[in-house]
Amino acid sequence: MHELSLCERLIDLLQEESQRHAFQRVTRIRLAVGRFACVDPEALRFAFDVVRRDTLAEGATVDIQQPPGLVWCEDCSSEREVPTRLSPCPVCGGLRLSPRGGDDLTLVELEVA
Ligand SMILES: [Zn+2]
Repeated sequence: MHELSLCERLIDLLQEESQRHAFQRVTRIRLAVGRFACVDPEALRFAFDVVRRDTLAEGATVDIQQPPGLVWCEDCSSEREVPTRLSPCPVCGGLRLSPRGGDDLTLVELEVA
C-alpha cells in the first residue's frame, strides 16, 4: 500500500530530525499532500496511526492539508492552480498543461517536546 510506505519514510525522517535537534517526542505534525499524489488523506491518516505505534510520533496530533495542484499552461505561459490532474486551464481552457509539483507528501510543520 502506497500510503504505508509514505508513512514509514515519514517516521524515518522524524527520527533523523529528533537526533539532529535533540527532541524526544512529536506533539503535532502538519502534512501537505499534493493534489496529484494519488494519496487519500484518510488512508494516509489510517496508515500513519498503524506505523507510528511505539515511535516518537505516537499520540501526536496530525493535520493533513491538501493544497491546490499547480500546472504550467503552455497556452498562456503561466502557472495556474487546478483542482485535479485532468482539469483544463482555468483561464484559457487549454489542455497543454505540465504539472508543477503537487505530487508528493511534504512535512510542513512539526511541534516537539
Ligand atoms: Zn491557459
